Amino acid sequence: MTNAKSANHRSRDPSTVQSTIQPTIQPIMQNVDASEIAKFEVLAHRWWDKSSEFKPLHDINPLRANFIDKRSPVAEKKIIDVGCGGGILSEALAQRGAIVTGIDMGDAPLAVAELHALESQLEIEYQKITAEEIAEQREQQYDIVTCLEMLEHVPEPNKVVEACAKLCKPGGHLYFATINRNPKSYLFAILGAEHILGLLPKGTHDYEKLIKPSELHSWLRNANLLLQEATGMTYNPLSKKYKMNPNDLTVNYLLHVIKPD
Ligand code: SAH
Repeated sequence: MTNAKSANHRSRDPSTVQSTIQPTIQPIMQNVDASEIAKFEVLAHRWWDKSSEFKPLHDINPLRANFIDKRSPVAEKKIIDVGCGGGILSEALAQRGAIVTGIDMGDAPLAVAELHALESQLEIEYQKITAEEIAEQREQQYDIVTCLEMLEHVPEPNKVVEACAKLCKPGGHLYFATINRNPKSYLFAILGAEHILGLLPKGTHDYEKLIKPSELHSWLRNANLLLQEATGMTYNPLSKKYKMNPNDLTVNYLLHVIKPD
């Protein structure tokens, strides 16, 4: 890969790109649920199709990228995107001039992410590795850590939060997004999105794995992180639009967190 970059845009010469994705031998006891990874493997080829199962992620992407960039300007910052999938957020951040590492445990989403970055002429480092493993290698190396729509797919999400805290530099910023667990979120995120509106494939989310803000907050506190701001991301089925709504964390929500100096 080249290190060439323009002022506000990291680009690379496709002819010199080598895959950084290494097949890993999975040690036992990894904090990974193979059935969750499998859900994304089968859909990965449609990741960048904006009318596919990934439409909701495409729709919220400008909102969340702007939210992050406004609170922690990303240009020239080192960012790790944990559970990056096909790279929708990683690319939006790289486009804004960030130096991005994306990690995931799915082969197919990572392959799609690598190819798409090539098409977009963005230099992004993608790796198949868990947050816990890379945190051992790269402690306190990142200005910003993003972990969006991933915690609800992991057996022990508190461990991922701990690893994200370890990856972040003191004084750095972290962003976590997930889905609340209550009757309304069941109705909207599972029944509505998966069964009625067909926005997501059936089985994308398991109710019992959804995470209440109070639970995530307690994991943040245990990892010595400080909650800075919380906002909901609400979907209006009539206008078919998402918006940030700080007064409604009942379904999708996003937290801005700081690692104290
Ligand atoms: N963060 C991305 C993708 C969310 S989809 C976005 O918001 O656009 C959830 C992703 O988490 C999938 O790509 C899945 O493969 C990944 N994932 C699930 N469990 C994981 C784990 N234990 N470690 C790393 N990635 C994981």
